[in-house]
Amino acid sequence: MAEADAAIVDNNWADRLLSSVDRLDPVVALLALVHLTGDRSLLSKYGPAFDGVPRAGGSSFSAKAQQAQKAPDAAAVAAIRARLIAEMESNPVPVLENPGPALFKQMAEFALDRQLTEDALGMGREAAGFAVGVGGIESTKVPPADFEVLIIGAGMMGIIAAVRLKAAGFNIRVIERNTGVGGTWFNNTYPNVAVDTPSVEYSISFAQNSSWSKYYPRGGEYREYLDGVARKYRIFDQIDFETEFTGCRWDADALQWVVSTMQGGEEVTYRARAVVMALGFLTRPSFPEVEGLDRFKGPVQHGGYWDDSVDLTGKNIVVVGTGASSAQISTGLADRASHVTVLQRQPNYMMPDPRVMQNVDPDELWALENIPFVTQWQRLQWFSSMMTRTATPAQIDPEYRARTGGVSEMNEGARRLSIGYLEQKFAERPDLMEKVRPDFPFFSKRPILDCGYYDTLLRDDVDLVTGELNSCEESAIVLSDGRRIECDALVLATGYSLEYFAEFDIKGRDDVALQDLWNPVPYAYKGMEVPGFPNFFITAGPNSGLASSHTVLAEQQVHYVTECLKHMVEDDLATIEVTEQACADFNEMLQERLENTIWMQSGSAHGYYRHQTGKIVLAFPGPNVEYWKMLRRPEIADYAVEPLKAG
Ligand SMILES: Cc1cc2nc3c(=O)[nH]c(=O)nc-3n(C[C@H](O)[C@H](O)[C@H](O)COP(=O)(O)OP(=O)(O)OC[C@H]3O[C@@H](n4cnc5c(N)ncnc54)[C@H](O)[C@@H]3O)c2cc1C
Repeated sequence: MAEADAAIVDNNWADRLLSSVDRLDPVVALLALVHLTGDRSLLSKYGPAFDGVPRAGGSSFSAKAQQAQKAPDAAAVAAIRARLIAEMESNPVPVLENPGPALFKQMAEFALDRQLTEDALGMGREAAGFAVGVGGIESTKVPPADFEVLIIGAGMMGIIAAVRLKAAGFNIRVIERNTGVGGTWFNNTYPNVAVDTPSVEYSISFAQNSSWSKYYPRGGEYREYLDGVARKYRIFDQIDFETEFTGCRWDADALQWVVSTMQGGEEVTYRARAVVMALGFLTRPSFPEVEGLDRFKGPVQHGGYWDDSVDLTGKNIVVVGTGASSAQISTGLADRASHVTVLQRQPNYMMPDPRVMQNVDPDELWALENIPFVTQWQRLQWFSSMMTRTATPAQIDPEYRARTGGVSEMNEGARRLSIGYLEQKFAERPDLMEKVRPDFPFFSKRPILDCGYYDTLLRDDVDLVTGELNSCEESAIVLSDGRRIECDALVLATGYSLEYFAEFDIKGRDDVALQDLWNPVPYAYKGMEVPGFPNFFITAGPNSGLASSHTVLAEQQVHYVTECLKHMVEDDLATIEVTEQACADFNEMLQERLENTIWMQSGSAHGYYRHQTGKIVLAFPGPNVEYWKMLRRPEIADYAVEPLKAG
């Protein structure tokens, strides 16, 4: 590089440093300074200047941080900023890479301004990326080379499982029916497809990314991220693509699973000591029964099966459904269609976030990418409520209910935010306001992030029609009440069916079929294991959905699988299998607690939380940290085991 160019770069760097540090949350700035200098006395020197100052709950640049009611001492903030700039200019390499548990506790309690329990600290160290597998078994043995683990599916869950199990020394193989990794983010290519959980929460603790372009990444950027993780941890060589799992059976003599697949029209069989089902839970698009759909002359698209070669520009489109995908699709199509009609069966609660469509602020991005450990501490702040909450917004507080008829203070706070947003958005359109106002308790359906959907509904070339699709004609749809809507393209944003493994032939001990056991309702121990199915681990299974991102769930469940398998190695076991009693007790506890949630008392809400039997099969009733704790390592008393055969 020419000298003049280098000077330009340096000037840019110095300018960016000044503007980024100037805007950085001083709490995070102080923590970064401790890393850079290794000087922990800075915490006691400057910490008191932040007494009573509210901490950011999300990004260091979040509105909450900027609207803090009590500001920190200005002189202390100026001194922190000046020192951070000086340290960055002299040597931006941190002295302290990883605070051990004791220092982490001090730093985390400062970051969040609260005392943290041992569990919250353990979960926090993982969330921030300073530890992996907290509370797990200390391995003293290496898994034997013939300990094959077959992971089925290469979405986020399968990738995390492959990385963690490989690191633990297991001989892994992954099978995947697609031609690439990413699962949901490989399959869903509809217009405007995006993550609706902030990237800071929807990313992997051991593979954090400081360079997201948006606070809520687009589907394509997220798929590239997962692809990058798979590449970084070199798991591509262990993946057999275009391999469709069709079923498996337990071979009690060989103490192995025999797994059937189809590869290019041929049946191919795998054998493995353990199987990890990472097939996802939203993979089967749900198609409504529509009489005469084949008569419809125009293109018909489904959100989960989007054909990118079909051009919908200039079309008069009906979008059926108002879930998360529909909100994204309708918003994405409105600019290119001549007219969009959204057909709504039931409205949803929408949550606002001004950052939803925004690129990450350049100063923030610079700080994340360049100032050591800003990414990690910001992430910890984001995880604060997951680590410390003792209830979820779905849990009914009996005292609050008796007093107000509502659900809980937490639930009501979020409901008010959502309704206030709706009323402000549709202040000039009372007709629309009434149509989009939900009449069921908040959180009895998953709330949706507003990605521009409300603004889309306010457009002159977009209509919201309440009704149910009944049938199709050549160039119109007909609703159940007989109304006709002319259109020349139809988009079914009707979601996915939640039928755990319904299409697979999975047989455990004594040839018992999983689907028979799961008739009428699927169940599992800790959402992951079923008696009669040794060494068989289900991810995202019944009652394991958490009130947080899927990545959080994935890391916790993969940790548990790793611990079960490590336990087998340590104790020279051929099988590990949850007992009937442990599974029954767990499910009894679950159902008792679920009774007291808004999912069971959900009024008119439709949605996939509730199974046709009326039971809740998707969600776990407790807070994240409870599930985290439950999955630290197997409770030996809950398992039946068989030792390895001699020789
Ligand atoms: C449109 C959409 C948006 C979402 N947005 C969010 C969000 O913002 N936040 C959030 O927390 N969650 C979100 N989810 C939920 C989402 O499914 C998970 O977050 C996550 O991507 C699931 O990861 P997974 O690995 O468990 O499953 P998947 O991503 O579904 O991966 C499963 C993999 O298994 C493969 N597979 C399936 N069947 C077979 C078979 N028979 N043989 C071989 N391979 C098979 C699939 O091809 C796929 O690659 C969203 C879901 C959808 C559909």
